[in-house]
Amino acid sequence: MSKNSDFSPKEIGKAILNSPVEYALQILGDKCTLLILKNIWLGRRKFEDFINEIGVSRGTLSSRLKFLVDHGVIYKDIYQSAPRRFEYKLTDKGLSTYPIASYLWQWNNLWTENSDVPSELIHTKCNNFLELSTNCLHCNEDVKIEDVTFDVNLDQNFEKLSLFKTRRSENSGIFDSDLVFRIEDLLGDRWTGLVYAGLLYGLKRFDEFNEALGISTNILADRLKKFLDAGVIKKDLYQHKPARYEYRLTRKGRSGYLTAIHLHFWAHMWMLNAKNTTISLVHKPCGNKLKIKTVCKACKGEVDPSNVSISASTSEDLNISSG
Ligand SMILES: [Zn+2]
Ligand SMILES: [Zn+2]
Repeated sequence: MSKNSDFSPKEIGKAILNSPVEYALQILGDKCTLLILKNIWLGRRKFEDFINEIGVSRGTLSSRLKFLVDHGVIYKDIYQSAPRRFEYKLTDKGLSTYPIASYLWQWNNLWTENSDVPSELIHTKCNNFLELSTNCLHCNEDVKIEDVTFDVNLDQNFEKLSLFKTRRSENSGIFDSDLVFRIEDLLGDRWTGLVYAGLLYGLKRFDEFNEALGISTNILADRLKKFLDAGVIKKDLYQHKPARYEYRLTRKGRSGYLTAIHLHFWAHMWMLNAKNTTISLVHKPCGNKLKIKTVCKACKGEVDPSNVSISASTSEDLNISSG
């Protein structure tokens, strides 16, 4: 996204922190959560499956599943009454994360050496693997990062409801052994997501992030180092004594922007009270406030959650929660 120089870093930070996206990051911006959702998209529904695949403790998994149920992203579907057994399935709110899931896969497959499982999402209208393009609803052009700018309206106030349960900071260390930086890491905790948002909205300097987002210097230094190590950002010296750097997204970092844009729209669609928002996106080529549609690259048809399913291995339509 191009920097809108009308706004100071502090105003940009305030807008980010008061947007529904920040709230959505508190719900989705957690590595265990992203891995649960990924597994559900791959057709796994049971507690034991998640335990085997994700490798978290039972306690962490239980609390994370409960949190997602409380926030209406997944629900428990009882399939056996004695003894009681249930599966976890996506609600409509959860199903609407399909573009986020799809772009996570694309990013991982593009940038991770040990390629991730291929996308198993199918567009049921044409039966092809789902590969999305994201288009402007007004002019129908592909949404490109350099064509999107933003407006900040600090008079608006997104009223955050309290979260159902205080989240424990439980990114539990088990993940630290994973040397491959995946996009889960980009959104894998709230601060990482916020720093990435700051980069997209044009924050560059350590002090700017620190001041704008109210992020402590040690957490900020850690997240910037992770991004640097992963090649998501690069740093340029802008002052010699003392040495000071500006941080910018690399091509790899920029290519995560569609995930961020879909997170933006998901948050505005599903977070209560999100009508009045502090940040709106503008599509420069047509000058309209950005609204998007997702289109299947194979058949050019518009995609919505009701025509996304997972592949033949389970061949079950995911859209089981409607009605
Ligand atoms: Zn447009
Ligand atoms: Zn299609």
